[in-house]
Amino acid sequence: MKYISTRGNAAAVDFVSASLTGLAPDGGLFCPVAYPALSPAKPATYVDTAVRVLSAFAGDALDAKVIRGLCERAYAPFAHQSVAPLVEVGPDRWMLELHHGPTLAFKDVAMRLIAQLYDYLLEQRGERMTILCATSGDTGGAAASAFAGSKNVDIVILHPLDRVSPTQRLFMTATGADNVLNLALEGDFDGTQAILKQLLADDQFRRRAGLAAVNSINWTRVAAQSVYFAQAQAQLGEARPVRFVVPTGNFGDALAAYVAWRCGLLAKLDIVAAVNANDAMARLLSGEALTKGRTAATLSPAMDIQLPSNFERLLFDATGRKGEAVATAYAQLAESGQADLPAGAAAWFAAQGFAAERVSDAETVDEMRRTLRETGWIVCPHTAVGLAAARRSEADGPIVSLATAHAAKFPETVERALGLKIGLPDRALEFATRPEKFDIGPMSADYVRQRIDSLVAGRR
Ligand SMILES: *Cc1c(COP(=O)(O)O)cnc(C)c1O
Repeated sequence: MKYISTRGNAAAVDFVSASLTGLAPDGGLFCPVAYPALSPAKPATYVDTAVRVLSAFAGDALDAKVIRGLCERAYAPFAHQSVAPLVEVGPDRWMLELHHGPTLAFKDVAMRLIAQLYDYLLEQRGERMTILCATSGDTGGAAASAFAGSKNVDIVILHPLDRVSPTQRLFMTATGADNVLNLALEGDFDGTQAILKQLLADDQFRRRAGLAAVNSINWTRVAAQSVYFAQAQAQLGEARPVRFVVPTGNFGDALAAYVAWRCGLLAKLDIVAAVNANDAMARLLSGEALTKGRTAATLSPAMDIQLPSNFERLLFDATGRKGEAVATAYAQLAESGQADLPAGAAAWFAAQGFAAERVSDAETVDEMRRTLRETGWIVCPHTAVGLAAARRSEADGPIVSLATAHAAKFPETVERALGLKIGLPDRALEFATRPEKFDIGPMSADYVRQRIDSLVAGRR
């Protein structure tokens, strides 16, 4: 199995290189050269399905036995045996709970696996690496926790200052591990993501610092996340069309559903991307131009994104995998702040089975209240965006909304919306006992480059 760049101007690499590099050298994102054909999802343990899916994506690069070991270690700390349980919230209406990992959000699912994979590969090669992560809130915590104490990795996490919730911040800054460096940058998430891309595209620096990224642009994340869609499909019946409502920011989760479908793991593709006031993904799916809009702060901060990075992968497929067309669009975007999508893109998205719903902060709060009233569940604001979108949705078959984080990660919003105080679940209490460590700096690639250079120098 080889991986090619969405911008069509990089050599094909294997799964291991695609995973360790993150971003392709031409600035594009890695995609499998062809989607593997898998048999439909059948009831199986989470680890069994993960091994099946990841082995297909790894091809010859990794032994299935090795993959099994990685998956077993990655998913052992989850608080629920099935890793991603489905719970019924109404007649054939479901929540896919993705927050049973150590940092209470779905980012744990992929990040735990990536940390295991990196540790294994680096140990084998006798190498050390610096992992750079830009986070809108939950990826940073998942990455910090997954890599904390890892022997062969330093991890540098960029988050937008004051744009993540105090509890989200706690999970990244209170790991107590000295291989974790947190930088709070003065600006928004799109800014931190742009710095990450810029530094990865700086070849010299990338080599010098042994730099890799574990953002949602890393293919391993997408592959790992496609597993829970397959699990949900298997539980609801392999042939039943299922609508998935996906709270969307960077479009990683929704893309993982698309990938699961392309591999034959879903009966049908029927995805509703639920967005907050930062509705870039809704506009793109309706064929509007790619733009660098300004983000607005909302109650669902992990979705405050105006340039969803994984859209590039969908666009690649929408153009019939013409890397040149994708490269041209993103070059134009970088130059003028705007790029038209190819004619027919919107029709292609709709034909695949994509739709979008916008949910305001007021509707998010209403949904949190209504869900509590009707089901007794206290849900996080991101999950509420999905549930509100699902409520508008008419479907004969099952509708599955993704519960992307635990409500305890957003206690301020829960208190404001529901008048309830919610504490961290036992498994996360240790975070609150340790001091937070982070430095504040300007939203500048030079600043981050310099901090990483001195970190790496200190290790030598
Ligand atoms: C990251 C995140 C999202 C958005 O997921 P994407 O894959 O970026 O679209 C939604 N909810 C929560 C809680 C998240 O952490």
